Amino acid sequence: MTYQYWNPGMETISRRGLEAWQLEKLRCAVRHALRTPFYAKRLKEAGIDSPERIKTLDDLRRIPFTTKHDLREGFPYGFLSIPKEQVVRLHASSGTTGAPTTIYFNKEDLMRWTGFVARSIYATGCNRTDVFQNMITYGLFTGGLGFHAGGEEIGMLVIPSGAGNTTRQFRLMQDFGTTVVHATPSFLLHVEAKMREEGVTRENLKLRKAFAGAEPYSEDTRKRIEELLAIDVYNSYGLSEMNGPGVAFECQCKNGLHLWEDGYIGEIINPETLEPVREGGPGELVLTCLCREATPILRYRTRDLSGFYNGPCACGRTHRRLYRIKGRTDDMLIINGVNLFPSQIEEVIMSMKEVGNNYLIVVEKEGALDRLTVQTEVGPAVFTDDSRVLNALKERIRKTLQASITINPKVELHERGSLPIFEGKAKRVHDKRPKDV
Ligand code: AMP
Ligand code: ZN
Repeated sequence: MTYQYWNPGMETISRRGLEAWQLEKLRCAVRHALRTPFYAKRLKEAGIDSPERIKTLDDLRRIPFTTKHDLREGFPYGFLSIPKEQVVRLHASSGTTGAPTTIYFNKEDLMRWTGFVARSIYATGCNRTDVFQNMITYGLFTGGLGFHAGGEEIGMLVIPSGAGNTTRQFRLMQDFGTTVVHATPSFLLHVEAKMREEGVTRENLKLRKAFAGAEPYSEDTRKRIEELLAIDVYNSYGLSEMNGPGVAFECQCKNGLHLWEDGYIGEIINPETLEPVREGGPGELVLTCLCREATPILRYRTRDLSGFYNGPCACGRTHRRLYRIKGRTDDMLIINGVNLFPSQIEEVIMSMKEVGNNYLIVVEKEGALDRLTVQTEVGPAVFTDDSRVLNALKERIRKTLQASITINPKVELHERGSLPIFEGKAKRVHDKRPKDV
């Protein structure tokens, strides 16, 4: 396979060249950070009162971590490093885990961000002949405008369809010959189920690729979407604190996500000890933004669990690859003392063909104990009202889950289309346990 690069020099730069670049950009980031109320105090306390204190990349570790809590404390302007007249846009995080946080951009920041998104899209083999339907929320969420600008930068025809309105989505695909879409993996699964229901077949579409991200999903979910729609699915990772999409992306090798290290420095730490994890992971991803002036953020604890692959990628890019994000440190459920990530459940049920595209995890208290219920929809291949067949399926799901997660769940089968649909990030876990327990 021949691989295409958007910015060949930078994407295949030597490690030494990349580190020299990072050092220079890190000093710039510190210079900007020192102009913000938050970091002026935080960095000086750590003995970093000027960018010259950063002599080597190892000095990064002298900078204290920044947390979501810090960003909230600094709301609204504690992290702004330039005069407000120079700010041209703001975005805010989805606030799924609390109050939103705000990121500001100047014109150059937006250009740099767009460059990273364009590079990401191009790495999947797209070009100006593609028709790109951006099926994700526009507005304060970064996925809409971020991908939109990146797509236009490449010269693709961009359809700003936004999220939701499923039937209209595949009408647009048919009318304009959409070749690439961007959506959350859960919305892609929903679109596919709806298409089947309305008799739209693969042959009616020109679709070749999808970018799926904004929420964790397993390799089995990727395979399921790829098989159902006969397309290639690429994992897209980003977060508003680091601009949004275009932080890390899969290339055509689909073997880990290249972290664009000329824009972001990645570290993996143990979330308990805060020490670096040897061998690159697994652990919590910490990111430093090197490509934004208006809102510098240094050593941000993402809470996302990942790690770095060893060795080079066959595509020739030298930027290190992250593992698929397994979940967030704050996603982890403790069920009767056993640690469980929702992604472990997803992995099992998405690999079972008889199970439909949607599921929900419910945790409740039953007396002193925790009770885990996994609700799934039946797959299209299950054409039966025979309760014996359904009970057997339920039992098979239960056993397969138990073997994998070591917890004995209750399994409920639901009709197709009856579990809640999510247009944005899916909320798969309902933890109904009292919070103070
Ligand atoms: P937001 O700031 O609202 O864009 O949310 C960013 C968060 O979404 C990240 O910190 C991750 O927890 C999650 N996320 C984004 N992309 C992915 C992905 N490809 N895989 C797993 N989680 C993701
Ligand atoms: Zn690669």
